[in-house]
Amino acid sequence: MKILVINAGSSSLKYQLIDMENESVLAKGLCERIGIDGHLKHSPLVGGKPVFDEDLAMPTHSEAIAAVIDKLTSAEYGVVADMKEIDAVGHRVVHGGEKFASSVKIDDAVMQALEECTPFAPLHNPANITGINACRKVMGDVPMVAVFDTAFHQTMPGKAFMYAIPYEYYKNDGIRRYGFHGTSHRYVSSRCAELMGKPIEELKIISCHMGNGSSIAAIDGGKCVDTSMGFTPLVGLPMGTRCGDLDNGVVQFIMNKYGLSIDEMLNVLNKKSGVLGVSGVSSDFRDLDNAAAEGNERAQLALDMFHYWVGKVVGSYVAAMNGVDAIIFTAGVGENSKSSRAAIAEYFGYLGVEIDPEANSKRGEDIMISTPESKVKVFVIPTNEELVIARDTKEICC
Ligand code: ADP
Repeated sequence: MKILVINAGSSSLKYQLIDMENESVLAKGLCERIGIDGHLKHSPLVGGKPVFDEDLAMPTHSEAIAAVIDKLTSAEYGVVADMKEIDAVGHRVVHGGEKFASSVKIDDAVMQALEECTPFAPLHNPANITGINACRKVMGDVPMVAVFDTAFHQTMPGKAFMYAIPYEYYKNDGIRRYGFHGTSHRYVSSRCAELMGKPIEELKIISCHMGNGSSIAAIDGGKCVDTSMGFTPLVGLPMGTRCGDLDNGVVQFIMNKYGLSIDEMLNVLNKKSGVLGVSGVSSDFRDLDNAAAEGNERAQLALDMFHYWVGKVVGSYVAAMNGVDAIIFTAGVGENSKSSRAAIAEYFGYLGVEIDPEANSKRGEDIMISTPESKVKVFVIPTNEELVIARDTKEICC
């Protein structure tokens, strides 16, 4: 059985074709500049076929999907003989609101419900919906599944997801903490339980997804009980360019003083803040590491702030769960930056965490980076959201 996994953005579309017999990726690729001019990079990973990396007209997502199917099935770049070999499609959808606590088979009623979730993710959900519609148009009645970034967090109790504002805003408008990166937190926490050789029901796990966007989740017995992102992905930790937690009074002060509209203000908070805003150097942690090593104090401050926040949020989740068995690092920074992991682990001393520097210097594999004696285990687990989407799609469709 072969499953196509699609992650559609407003002008881009990432895909992987996964063979579920052995969960291997047959091909992957990225359509970019959809609606502008169009570019496709398609990489077959089996059969010794060449990479296709060229401009290709893509006025809409439909042409993008058609180009993907064309390449997947072509004699020169293809990995399957015919579109009929693609048994199902799994789509990443950012926001499922309170309607979706798990993945779901797509039909007209689901499409309607997705539209209703759009006000919660006005930039992301329309792109995801466009991707699904384009796929349905091009692929006909191939079964499709929606997998939500928010779904895993739906198990949070009211005390964790409610904001302390008038209750009517929750009741009438759905204003609450939803959380994001759920597919990643779900994957790494279940993999962590496997690595520990224990049922996830018996474990308290804190998962730190640290990439361009970062969030932390507290997972008790396999269920998410708290997470650091909220109604939007803007809050929690300071991120590459997003501010994270911020006193709302600051927003009013800056808007009044500099005459900014709310959209201009949100642009500052989403795109010009975080470690980029503090350092003035970059949103990329590699650049920050280099600048800090050369003595750039603001780059060091941005890194210190990020590490401190991860340590602080992890500490709050130890309290929330009344203990912790394992802490996981994942995503771009979590998987690659040994210096960030070591700096963050300095905040775990009270938990009896001991990091093994040799294990911490390895890359690209699931690995325990704490010593065997460490009271709380610390893991690096490369995330694999596409595999979760493919597994859910298989389970629901086949
Ligand atoms: P996204 O949130 O966009 O999925 P990723 O999880 O791919 O992001 O993370 C991207 C970030 O990972 C980059 O901005 C960079 O800061 C960081 N990163 C990647 N490689 C390294 C590295 N070797 N050292 C430090 N940071 C890294």
